[in-house]
Amino acid sequence: MKTKKISSALILMLTMLIFCSCTGNNEENKEYTKDIFAMDTFMTIKAYGDKAEIAVDEAEREIVRLESLFSVTDKKSDISRINKNGGQFVKVEEDTLDLIGTALDYCRETDGALDITVYPILREWGFTTGEYKIPDNERIRELLELTGYRKVRLGENTVLLDDGTEIDLGSAAKGYTGDRIAEIMQKNGVDSALINLGGNVQAVGTKPDGSKWKVGIQDPENSGEIVCTLSVSDCAVVTSGNYERYFVGADGKKYWHIIDPKTGYPADNGVISASVIGKSGVMCDALSTALFVMGTEKAIAFCKAHREIDAVIITSGKKMYVTEGLEDMSAVSDKYELSLIKR
Ligand code: ADP
Ligand code: MG
Repeated sequence: MKTKKISSALILMLTMLIFCSCTGNNEENKEYTKDIFAMDTFMTIKAYGDKAEIAVDEAEREIVRLESLFSVTDKKSDISRINKNGGQFVKVEEDTLDLIGTALDYCRETDGALDITVYPILREWGFTTGEYKIPDNERIRELLELTGYRKVRLGENTVLLDDGTEIDLGSAAKGYTGDRIAEIMQKNGVDSALINLGGNVQAVGTKPDGSKWKVGIQDPENSGEIVCTLSVSDCAVVTSGNYERYFVGADGKKYWHIIDPKTGYPADNGVISASVIGKSGVMCDALSTALFVMGTEKAIAFCKAHREIDAVIITSGKKMYVTEGLEDMSAVSDKYELSLIKR
């Protein structure tokens, strides 16, 4: 059984291989890197310049603070308190309200492919506890009754859930955190940094020499390989894949951690990896999860209608769909047949 931790470590190694080529000696290019384990994943923050250390340390404190608000396992977190108090308005911090509000916007925009209320179903499958099992159909039907993002309502500084409904922000919290860290970098005068939150990459500026950062997209069928590299600056690159957290059931089938909110089963539509590239980390995180759930045709249609994102969608049919804007992409492997998403 593989876990997110192993996969995140591999992603980290891959990205480190790509990124480690750029260290400078002078003060301006001085590199400061910190590895952190938080939000159930390995994170690396690498920043350049004389303010790098101050900024990275502040970023680490911010990660710890945000985790304490968003964690579903920490009983004192805002999310746990909201979940425990269905039917009542629960007062929360501004960041919690901001993230839930933004996530709900993407739930609506993706017609419920993203749905932050799938949490009771995820737990039933064991993805939150590690006690994996295939639930019976009747149980899934019961739990589906409790889900639906319209059962979440926001007040001025409160959140109200229907009784029995529970939420989880695992689909977007790392992206949100990436945005906050990028802001901390900029506020501290760091204009060159690369933030890797367990595969959620956030690039601040360019490399110190002015060239773009290179970010590898992992082969979903082979965790040691990358299928292409993207050259990026000032943006987020976020991937959702079926290889990140999964178990093999007694029936020999693979079941992964991204749930189709319409069925209550892991989204199994041929998409095995969806990467989204765009200005905002929370947008890329929410939409990479949503594109994974939508399946190839809907995901391509969504990309055509949303020019604010670029995407790389890989299917079990050995196809790789890439939006036209990604001219800087260089394919490393020809294992997947490339098609352009034109718009
Ligand atoms: P990762 O956290 O592995 O980087 P994602 O960003 O795609 O991957 O988020 C997956 C997480 O989102 C799951 O672990 C679960 O907590 C939650 N989740 C699963 N399915 C959905 C869904 N359809 N909508 C919203 N959240 C989901
Ligand atoms: Mg996501």
